[in-house]
Amino acid sequence: MKVRVDDGLCQGRAMCILACPELFDLSDEDGHASVRQADVPRELEAKIEQAVRGCPEGAIQTY
Ligand code: SF4
Repeated sequence: MKVRVDDGLCQGRAMCILACPELFDLSDEDGHASVRQADVPRELEAKIEQAVRGCPEGAIQTY
């Protein structure tokens, strides 16, 4: 599984950081989220799926 954040949709609401602090960072400049690495370790897949469901903007995609 891989994960990415659509910067055009992200509004910096930080729900993803709460769901999976291991893989998301928030920009100090605009508050938008980014992923530290696209490849999701198997042990973090459940947290990423939670982040996808919890993002109010639908900005997190897995592929
Ligand atoms: S939860 Fe969604 S909108 Fe909020 S920072 Fe994360 S990706 Fe952006």
